[in-house]
Amino acid sequence: NKGKNRFEFYDANSDAVVAEKVKMEQAMRKAVEDDCKEFEVYYQPIMEFVNGIPTCCGAEALVRWNSPEYGLVLPDQFISQAEQLKLINSIGQHVLLEAAKSCKHWNDFGHPEYKVNVNLSVVQLTQSDFLDKLDMVLKQTAIDPQNLTLEVTESLAINDMERMIKLLDAIRAKGCRVALDDFGTGYSSLNYIRTMPLDTIKIDRAFVSDMNSDHFSEVFVKTISELADSLDVDVCVEGVEFDKQVDMIGKFSVNLAQGFFFDKPLTKEDFEKKYL
Ligand code: C2E
Ligand code: CA
Ligand code: CA
Repeated sequence: NKGKNRFEFYDANSDAVVAEKVKMEQAMRKAVEDDCKEFEVYYQPIMEFVNGIPTCCGAEALVRWNSPEYGLVLPDQFISQAEQLKLINSIGQHVLLEAAKSCKHWNDFGHPEYKVNVNLSVVQLTQSDFLDKLDMVLKQTAIDPQNLTLEVTESLAINDMERMIKLLDAIRAKGCRVALDDFGTGYSSLNYIRTMPLDTIKIDRAFVSDMNSDHFSEVFVKTISELADSLDVDVCVEGVEFDKQVDMIGKFSVNLAQGFFFDKPLTKEDFEKKYL
């Protein structure tokens, strides 16, 4: 706009960028104040290997922001901003409640074995009243707590491991399960599976996608699943896209898998059409 033969440095703090960010923040605030109705929960099936055959055993809840202004916004585009603004507490509670309601519905209509996984932000988990909010969801939905798994990442434990262990113990004391998400991407992963009370380890998709070309990734997935198996912890591999990967994990002690090979995240309606 300023004409040819000139250059300018890109500046993330330039007025236009800041203005755009502020605009999106306002829209997000408004969406939260409007009872989070624009935040839609999608469900990606989680498959369990039953006699080697992948069978749906539930789903991971993944939020999308269905914004009239921005269209369908994926979590990578708004979660960190929502965390900074603390809006994640309301959004996360909405997702937790919706997911628990859905799962209870599946359990009552032909699939008592289905479970639901919900991602928790560190901001959400470290609120002083998180456990009360979890209780409210359990009471309000009457879901069997065993069917509700809360997914946390290693970043949670970095600051205050002791506090984190207490929290996870309290969650499990209510009967809910805990999964460690994105395993292998943190910087002291093995220490976390040694110290954190866990029911499931989810191996990050980076290892799964490299498994067929990279010997290390193959050995990593195999070894972590054996370790988890001996510790009596479930293993879920994420990001399964090709049948070659299914063949390979079939030989390891992996019991759960998730990925586009089986299905992408679906609206509640589509998930129920296909899997209920
Ligand atoms: P995540 O928890 O690791 O979720 C898995 C992500 O991988 C999802 O992206 C899913 O759509 C994608 N995915 C699944 N299978 C495949 C595959 O085979 N190949 C590839 N390339 N990708 C696959 P999505 O839905 O965009 O979510 C991104 C991240 O946003 C999630 O990563 C999670 O960390 C976060 N997130 C999603 N929903 C929530 C939420 O309700 N609360 C919080 N705090 N975070 C959330
Ligand atoms: Ca997850
Ligand atoms: Ca993950």
